[in-house]
Amino acid sequence: MDTDVLVVGAGPTGLMLANQLARRGVRATIIDRHAGPSQQTRAIAVQARTLEIYSKLGIVERALELGRRGTGANMWARGRRMARVPLGDIGQDLSPYPFVLILGQDDNERIMGAKLRDLGVTVQWNTELTALEQSPGHVTATLKLPDGSSRTTTAAWVAGCDGAHSAVRELSGITFPGAPYEHVFFVADTQVTGSMVPDELNIYLLLQGFHLFFPMRGNDHWRIVGMLPAALRKRDDLTFEEVVPSLRQEAGTELSFKGCSWFSTYRIHHRCASRFRNRRCFLLGDAAHIHSPVGGQGMNTGLQDAYNLGWKLALVVTGRSKETLLDSYEAERLPVARRLLSTTDRLFTLIVSNNPAAGLFRTRVAARILAFAMTIERIRKLAFLTISQIGIRYPAGPLSETLRPLPARAPQAGERFPWLRLALQAGGPPEDLYRKLGDTCFNLIVIGQSAPAAPAGAAPDLGDLMRIHSIPDDPGNEQALARAQVPTPSFYLLRPDGHIGLAGARYDAASTARYLSERLRLKIHGEKPGTGVT
Ligand SMILES: Cc1cc2nc3c(=O)[nH]c(=O)nc-3n(C[C@H](O)[C@H](O)[C@H](O)COP(=O)(O)OP(=O)(O)OC[C@H]3O[C@@H](n4cnc5c(N)ncnc54)[C@H](O)[C@@H]3O)c2cc1C
Repeated sequence: MDTDVLVVGAGPTGLMLANQLARRGVRATIIDRHAGPSQQTRAIAVQARTLEIYSKLGIVERALELGRRGTGANMWARGRRMARVPLGDIGQDLSPYPFVLILGQDDNERIMGAKLRDLGVTVQWNTELTALEQSPGHVTATLKLPDGSSRTTTAAWVAGCDGAHSAVRELSGITFPGAPYEHVFFVADTQVTGSMVPDELNIYLLLQGFHLFFPMRGNDHWRIVGMLPAALRKRDDLTFEEVVPSLRQEAGTELSFKGCSWFSTYRIHHRCASRFRNRRCFLLGDAAHIHSPVGGQGMNTGLQDAYNLGWKLALVVTGRSKETLLDSYEAERLPVARRLLSTTDRLFTLIVSNNPAAGLFRTRVAARILAFAMTIERIRKLAFLTISQIGIRYPAGPLSETLRPLPARAPQAGERFPWLRLALQAGGPPEDLYRKLGDTCFNLIVIGQSAPAAPAGAAPDLGDLMRIHSIPDDPGNEQALARAQVPTPSFYLLRPDGHIGLAGARYDAASTARYLSERLRLKIHGEKPGTGVT
């Protein structure tokens, strides 16, 4: 076998998957048909859940250094600022990164690419997948090389991270049902001054659509996204200068453009692959789902597909788990994609509707309702949970099991374990629990009861694949646990991606052992030293 995993596509999804595989010691080969990394910003919103993953990968500091925190959104209509929605720290107490980070896709790709090189893997550019043949134990892929010649390579698994026109999807015979929206959009990276509130998102609500101004790094650098006026929609050779009059008219005459470094028009589709897997081939990111950019979810969803599949593939490739573990990838991520498509579709249809009543609603009512709604704590929290993607959960997934009795309000199996600051030593200072959790192993969190000592045989011995965290009784801990509705006593077995696999009240060694072998399909060894206890 030439490689364990062939990752097709070095966009954000492929780079994240290759990183996750490399840091787990899997032999991965990553190819891309382009000559080098993309220079286009495309996606610009990096959500909290992605930053949590970046933190584990050791690249969050760099992302925070290069990006800008979204502190607020200003809504404009009929030339006036109608409302401001504060966004800074909107997710306080919910994530170590309680905001949205404005950072271009090109920067995200650069940061992940540099990390991948540190891990000893380089992208093979100018290399295109042209054919696939699946056999019982491997896949044979035909690659077109930089000099135009072709060669075949064998891989145990193939990950299709090759975007909306995915060759892996086509060659695997997986359909991509959905449709394009009728509107045509434009995106422009500009240098411009005007009425925009500096450093914040400015949304211009129009009778027919909207324009979004995102603050980017650098002086007067704004990324503008909007809908083309109907009269310009059919033009193939459109220039940014031709769009400027409509921008001026809608956003206010004060707009003064000094330059435009990138302008592109595009149609948006909403489509979801009918399956995310065909035997040894998987689909991730835009290859699996595309939708409107409402809420800045596209790139982030692809990154999380990769984070979900990465640890599972690593366990299988290294012989720790049986192949059936991989069935859980589609079972967990397909429903997430379908839900995302339906939510963004509904919102998008409302935002772009040409209906005059919808136009009036947009320009006279919507901004005020939204600004008012965001003053309500419960709605703010729900909005953050949804947009930041920390609320994504897999309650009905094959890896989720909650043992009763556990209160219904407590975090349940399938959810991301909440972010908590806890004293990890009796009488010690509160610490960020996330920093203690390994993401290349399982984490057993034991609360209000004595922790099982692995060597004594009470916890399944997985060696360095399991860390045990015993949370001591402490008044500060009680408060923090109560705020997150984590009961005492309880125990939570977290998967490497931080989602709860098994949850219950009193720790039960037999149920845990059964869970690990039946659901995670882990091959449990006999006693072995090295189980980390914090
Ligand atoms: C104009 C525009 C604006 C956008 N704005 C936003 C936004 O504001 N927010 C947001 O969240 N999302 C946005 N998106 C979507 C976002 O860019 C995508 O969700 C994201 O790029 C998906 O990443 P990916 O790695 O899955 O796919 P891609 O980024 O498409 O990467 C796929 C890679 O696969 C390579 N490839 C393709 N075929 C082959 C082959 N046969 N062999 C080898 N390599 C191959 C390609 O060269 C490419 O590098 C926007 C998209 C566009 C086009």
